[in-house]
Amino acid sequence: MRIAVGCIGHETNTFSPVATTLDNFKKGSYYRGDEIITAFRGTRTITGGFLDIAEHFNLQPVPLLWAFATPSGMVEHRAYETLKAEFLDLLQNAGQLDGVLLDLHGAMVTDAFEDAEGDLIHAVREIVGETWIVTTLDLHANITAQMADSSDVIIGFDTYPHIDCYERGFEAGQLLFGMNEGKIQPTMAYRQLPLLTAPPAQCTMKAPMTDVLKTLHALETKPGVVTATLSMGFPFADIRDAGVSILVTTNGDMALAEEYADKFASDIWEMRTAFTFNLHTVESVIELANQTDGKPIILADGADNPGGGGPCDGTTILQKFIEADVQDAVIAVIADPESVAQAVTAGVGNRAQLDVGGKTDTQHGAPVALTGYVKTLSDGRFTLKGPMGRGTIGNMGKTAVIQVGGVEIILTERRIQPYDAEVLRSVGIEPQARKLIALKSAVHFRADYTPIAHQILDVDTPGVHSPNLFNYDYQKLRHPIYPLDSTVTYGETDAT
Ligand SMILES: [Zn+2]
Repeated sequence: MRIAVGCIGHETNTFSPVATTLDNFKKGSYYRGDEIITAFRGTRTITGGFLDIAEHFNLQPVPLLWAFATPSGMVEHRAYETLKAEFLDLLQNAGQLDGVLLDLHGAMVTDAFEDAEGDLIHAVREIVGETWIVTTLDLHANITAQMADSSDVIIGFDTYPHIDCYERGFEAGQLLFGMNEGKIQPTMAYRQLPLLTAPPAQCTMKAPMTDVLKTLHALETKPGVVTATLSMGFPFADIRDAGVSILVTTNGDMALAEEYADKFASDIWEMRTAFTFNLHTVESVIELANQTDGKPIILADGADNPGGGGPCDGTTILQKFIEADVQDAVIAVIADPESVAQAVTAGVGNRAQLDVGGKTDTQHGAPVALTGYVKTLSDGRFTLKGPMGRGTIGNMGKTAVIQVGGVEIILTERRIQPYDAEVLRSVGIEPQARKLIALKSAVHFRADYTPIAHQILDVDTPGVHSPNLFNYDYQKLRHPIYPLDSTVTYGETDAT
């Protein structure tokens, strides 16, 4: 069986002013043909999982195009159209196919389309006709009716941090095999809830999501159910369909799929207040660290998470750390190629005068003028060793560690979400030997850092990825929606 595999994916933060260009895709993850196999074989990714199961079932992968840019602002529509044309051209020339695996993200917005990945799936459907299409999506997909209508099955990640990508790729391969054997006739029901949640509440390592996952997995064991997905959505996209959605796929029984989808949607709706949470001030976390010995306290600077479109050069926490003269503290990371170049010019063991960060926009703090000691310089390459993406290569670009008083700042050329502790270890910083670690990550870091942290606290800093959803002026989002609006109904229930 020949299964085409490919991706054009993005998580678009429409609140970021930084447009996403074709160059961002080409310099991001951009592979054609067999390059895809080389890049993903042996990795804990969707395509990695699919490649493993393909071998077992004698499925022949037909790699097309795999293009993914680091999350940022609106995708330039012409960039999407160029990639789409390239993708469809490869698909048209792929020969006879028995299935298509689309390894997508599900939150790409262009300046013309709110649902670019839905458009892509639809275009693939027009070419392949009745051939099976299985689509995999991130837990942050804003799933639309167009995506559901154009796919035979959608499989979303169950976890955030996303540590089940490999398993979902594996599952996609198993399903495609079963569908081709005639053992599975997928019937999929889609429900969208009037519910918007922020990343800290979506984390599947703690309540309420641990309970939600139990319900989801129980549903997947029911007779007739093939797979089920709860997508928590990406709230930093001001589009109609941002937020929570549900998919239930059964084997040839649409009424059963509808029934289970309604039940699951109503269970989630009933627990909507559990998705609210408290944020901490940076000052209160510093105070707590002063009273604590031992393992590090982690500050989640989710507002500047480059993994969700943050510029990664925000300075709010750096400024407060310096003002408070904190000790044994690390900032990971600040992307600032100009300061890195100045540190390289100064050289290891010397002092450099820098204006650090705050250069992309005015939403994440101003540049901080400082004189720092250049502690290390490196090429910024490392192998991920944590549960997420283990085995893949991280690239921070040229990287400098600058020490200012008791604060070490990891300055990078590239925007990178520091969810793997190798970001610190690869530049000579042992996280367990530090007291305060500020990470530009909302949730992913929890997979690798929870075992070594004394406490993890979400801090209230300004930015395009702030966990406080009331900070945003939504224009295109559907209303009413919980918790932004005072009266929201779903089914028979009122939320006030
Ligand atoms: Zn995600």
